[in-house]
Amino acid sequence: MHNPKSKIQNLKFETLAVHAGVEPDPATGAVMTPIYQTSTYAQADVGRHQGYDYSRTDNPTRTALQTAMAALEGGRHALAFSSGMAAIDTLLRLVRPGDHVICGNDVYGGTFRLFDKVLGHYGLAFSYVDTSNLAAVQAALRPNTKLVWLETPTNPMLRLTDIAAVAAVAHQAGAWLGVDNTFASPALQRPLELGADFVIHSTTKYIGGHSDVVGGVIILNDTSIYETLKFLQNAIGAVPGPVDCFLTLRGIKTLALRMEAHCRNATQVAQFLADHPAVAEVIYPGLDSHPQHELARRQMKGPGGMVSFLLHAGEAAAWVVARETQLFTLAESLGGVESLIELPAPMTHASVADSPLAVDAGLVRLSVGIENVQDLIADLAQALKAAGGAG
Ligand SMILES: *Cc1c(COP(=O)(O)O)cnc(C)c1O
Repeated sequence: MHNPKSKIQNLKFETLAVHAGVEPDPATGAVMTPIYQTSTYAQADVGRHQGYDYSRTDNPTRTALQTAMAALEGGRHALAFSSGMAAIDTLLRLVRPGDHVICGNDVYGGTFRLFDKVLGHYGLAFSYVDTSNLAAVQAALRPNTKLVWLETPTNPMLRLTDIAAVAAVAHQAGAWLGVDNTFASPALQRPLELGADFVIHSTTKYIGGHSDVVGGVIILNDTSIYETLKFLQNAIGAVPGPVDCFLTLRGIKTLALRMEAHCRNATQVAQFLADHPAVAEVIYPGLDSHPQHELARRQMKGPGGMVSFLLHAGEAAAWVVARETQLFTLAESLGGVESLIELPAPMTHASVADSPLAVDAGLVRLSVGIENVQDLIADLAQALKAAGGAG
């Protein structure tokens, strides 16, 4: 992709986050990528244009976002979509009727819904396995397995998968590996470098980072598959508008700083919860007690901003905590600068109740923001106190 800053080799992540994809606008010198709010482009002659003919096919603001995302994931190509689900749906068009897909058994509820309730009706077969168990992935492989799909860390159980190990097993069987990197972000984990064929993001979360835009992206290295996906992006048309691309690009500039703050705050919140007498279990890859703490240290630059926990007093107490926090807003989604709290079972994971992905009804999930951590801990302390009588 076009990159006049390529005279400096091996730019580091923080620098790429600020500069990748962003060049002074050739028409005006505007330092920030303009919002090209246009559906079409004047042609100099019949069929002769400057690389842009219609905004479903290409738009300069989207091009900048795609270039930035490819750089951040260390990939050759990126394609942006109107949502994370649109990115996943478009990618799955590479899989044909009669093909088989192995999917993690603790993936985003909307991904399970798309696979199970939509794509299952189009002749695709899905197996749901614990991808953190390499033998389980191996056992699920079939001659027609085309794709292995996983998230690491998972949502909401924060289970990890060894990406390099699963990539090797998938490739040996002639299957692709796709990794949903939404929870880690490329600031903490770069799956393409570990052997994955595709990375997808819901840019709605950490990439955008401010809870003000919905979007998705696919990043990959293979140029011929990229051409196919680019054809599909235009043919299907689930593309983001230029304002959404601009907002996402603006978020990206502070991704490195934000992820440092998310990791630092979440580590302290997890430790506070682990020491609290009302808390039965804390799930956080940064704690020694996490069963895959070693893999987290090896595969990720930091343990992330998501923390899940269970209370001794169970589900009723969890409802009280979720109602009583004041800085932690009771809401779905994650990855924004502000802290959120939710109960996955009745909220984000309601669509997977009675499925292999069902979660404990009393589980509480935190998206720890970048506020002052003492304030966050004080908020949780008062909510846990309020829950003291419940259960
Ligand atoms: C939110 C999310 C998605 C779906 O993305 P949307 O932008 O909401 O369509 C996919 N995967 C993960 C891990 C998510 O958190």
